[in-house]
Amino acid sequence: MNLVKRVSAVSTGTVQIRPEHVETNGTPLLWWVNTSRRWTAPRPINVYVIEHDKGLVLFDTGQDRRSVTDPGYFPGGPAGHVYRRLAKFDIPSDATLTGRLRDQGYDIADVRVAIVSHLHQDHIGGLRELPRSAQVLVSAAELAEVDKRFAVFAGLLREHIHVPGVNWTTVTPQPVEDPALGPFTHAHDVMGDGSLLLLPTPGHTPGSISLLLRSEGLPPMMFVGDLTYDVRLLAADRVPGVGDTARLHDTTRQVNQLAALHPGMPVLAAHDPEAASLLTTALQRHGSELG
Ligand SMILES: [Zn+2]
Repeated sequence: MNLVKRVSAVSTGTVQIRPEHVETNGTPLLWWVNTSRRWTAPRPINVYVIEHDKGLVLFDTGQDRRSVTDPGYFPGGPAGHVYRRLAKFDIPSDATLTGRLRDQGYDIADVRVAIVSHLHQDHIGGLRELPRSAQVLVSAAELAEVDKRFAVFAGLLREHIHVPGVNWTTVTPQPVEDPALGPFTHAHDVMGDGSLLLLPTPGHTPGSISLLLRSEGLPPMMFVGDLTYDVRLLAADRVPGVGDTARLHDTTRQVNQLAALHPGMPVLAAHDPEAASLLTTALQRHGSELG
């Protein structure tokens, strides 16, 4: 019995960021955010959709379309200035989470679990569209950041996180002994069957988590949120300009060690332009190996 039947990537619009965001140039965020004059080409805002035996599971929920239609979505003042300099979004009218799931033949009402890699607004944008019955998983370490002073400058918009009716469940990865996890010593088993394991991957934010999928009939795959914006940079231990650089390097090395244990495992980031094709290629290659 295959626990996971299908995995797909959908994108709730696109985002343009600064080249210094994709890879650090050694200067602090507030320096490059204010001085950068370039934007990258549009990049995806990926939501990974996992059709599990027990129901639909999402890894991240994308960007809320209201962020481009509601002038009050982002803060004003100095924080608003940072948000405007950091990213530019394009969210077509059909690029809602509900619409993108429908494109794949899914009804958002069937989402059973939504995991958020971290609480930045481009990962929590679909919360308001989820059914009230959906369990929303976040790391306890990440949720603890929300009510700190100056959280808005760390990319945390309380009014879009504390959404009425959202069924938050905090996760604290526990010690595990599993040689297949390589350097990772802590994990949280989402479905209780070993198919979906959450691993602590701090760096982009203190509580960022990644998902390792292991299920018969599918290649292993790893979903890493914003640990990287380009998996080739990740493989070369080159880290982004947002987050704690030392922790990003530590976590990057751990993910690369894990990947080395699972040849061919795609490492899928939220805004890597290659991620959707990496997923497709891994699924096709695995399918042809199975004959
Ligand atoms: Zn992001």
